[in-house]
Amino acid sequence: MGDWLICLGIESTAHTLGVGIVKNGNVLSNENDTYKPKNEGIVPRKAADHHAEVFGEVLKRSLDSAGVSLDEVGLFSFAQGPGIGSPLQVGCTAARALAIKCEKPLIGVNHPYAHIKIAEEYSGIKNPLILYVSGGNTQILIEEKGRFRVLGETLDIGIGNLYDTFLRAAKLEYAHGSMLEEIAKGGKYVPLPYTVKGTNLSFTGLQTAAIRALGEHPLKDVTYSLVETSLSMCLEALERSLFLTKRKGIISCGGVAQNKRLKEMLKTLAEEDGVQYGGAPDEFNRDNGAMIAYAGELLYKKRGTKPVKEWKTEPNQRIDSFAI
Ligand code: MG
Repeated sequence: MGDWLICLGIESTAHTLGVGIVKNGNVLSNENDTYKPKNEGIVPRKAADHHAEVFGEVLKRSLDSAGVSLDEVGLFSFAQGPGIGSPLQVGCTAARALAIKCEKPLIGVNHPYAHIKIAEEYSGIKNPLILYVSGGNTQILIEEKGRFRVLGETLDIGIGNLYDTFLRAAKLEYAHGSMLEEIAKGGKYVPLPYTVKGTNLSFTGLQTAAIRALGEHPLKDVTYSLVETSLSMCLEALERSLFLTKRKGIISCGGVAQNKRLKEMLKTLAEEDGVQYGGAPDEFNRDNGAMIAYAGELLYKKRGTKPVKEWKTEPNQRIDSFAI
């Protein structure tokens, strides 16, 4: 592969429609538009309608800020899964249409794989132990012998989902995990259930107890306690995995990896255990198109691709279900 390869990636697994452009591993643009539900979780149909509505404009913004014309794009990629069926379909259909129109190859990308690979790139850490924390996912992973292995994961809901549900129960109009740190400031610890099973985690008991505690304690105390408890659970499972695998570095990625308290805890853990710690800038921890373009280019150079018409979405696709 020469330096001709410009890859355009489309993200649409959940609330964000993103279009990013990458050239030989360098991000040229990363334009996104996020659907923000009020007083409810993500309604699949509404997310899909949002993505279809903004796609043209986000595409144009991405091409303009990269200084690239559609004809110069050599490869199209899209997030195949895991994600919500109907918003995923919008990204896939748009990517297929562009690939056919431009007569260029298309490749589907697993969403967590993209988060992990861009975090590896920016951290410079090779063969890390990975903490992937987002709305729908909470996993501890390693890459080994051409596959990803999930060493531990949530047995029920993702940690981001826990935060969003809790904030909605607290009657905040636009409930999102990014609000937690502001609300928790100056909070005092209230005991909440802590559930780690080896390297696996369970958050539903914690969710129920935290929502119940809202009626008995100030919001800032419960929020502070929820964050401390849930992050400590992740750190315990992660540290156990670190001792088992003896990896020399840790990376974090996914939407919840933006949390400053989590970064602080990971930094302390890494210092105490004598390993490296890093990740990507926050714009790549949020859902975004650039990481899909980055991972699309990586996979294409590694294994090529199949005909455009054979690519479809896989809403339940697990990262450990395919060779890489
Ligand atoms: Mg994500």
